[in-house]
Amino acid sequence: MERQDPFAQERRRMVEEQLKARGIRDRRVLEAMLQVPRHLFVRPEDREWAYADGPLPIGFGQTISQPYIVARMTELLGLKGKEKVLEIGTGSGYQAAVLAHLAREVHTVERIPELAKQARERLKRLGLTNVHVHVADGTLGWPAEAPYDAILVTAAAPEIPQPLLDQLAPGGRLVAPVGSRGLQYLERWTRTDGDFLHERFEPVAFVPLVGKYGWHPGEYGNTESPAG
Ligand code: SAH
Repeated sequence: MERQDPFAQERRRMVEEQLKARGIRDRRVLEAMLQVPRHLFVRPEDREWAYADGPLPIGFGQTISQPYIVARMTELLGLKGKEKVLEIGTGSGYQAAVLAHLAREVHTVERIPELAKQARERLKRLGLTNVHVHVADGTLGWPAEAPYDAILVTAAAPEIPQPLLDQLAPGGRLVAPVGSRGLQYLERWTRTDGDFLHERFEPVAFVPLVGKYGWHPGEYGNTESPAG
């Protein structure tokens, strides 16, 4: 195993130094991040930086998030294994792969068809058959499979899109970066009896969520260049 994956050592170091050392405690999250080969989700020319402590470009002006942020948002969802999860912003597919290790079924929505295609191929090659990649405006959620026990938004929203709150099951958790274009805070919304518990965590910086209930083209600057 070790010999077949030259990155296993780097992955272990990532989990120790970037995740455990900064307070990620959920054992299942740590184990999933130890398993998922992040180097297969970045561009070939970036492979040697795949386990570095930061985001990386994936083309189309988009990024794969920093490992710590992936772990932190996943931990905030509190997954136990039986959930149906919705992710908005498939990007590389890395976060979806982590979720696939921790939940029963994952639906992930991406607005850029080429990114969705690449992610679908990666996930298939890894044998992660419980992830389904859809091309659509994720600010509308994915009503066909609703409700969801957990929803993760991995692009910056000006506010939580109402359709996502509507598609959350009772007791379900939604985690999203909410704020301005340049700076957001991680928020968690938990559906309680007829209401929502709303918590706010640390500041983050994500690429914009672009769509009907997100930022509108022209409001968020030029992040669409194919050069990434
Ligand atoms: N989770 C990804 C990183 C997300 S980057 C990973 O693990 O690699 C944010 C992604 O959200 C980008 O790919 C962007 O195209 C996508 N996105 C932005 N607005 C969207 C929308 N309304 N619906 C679906 N995807 C969207």
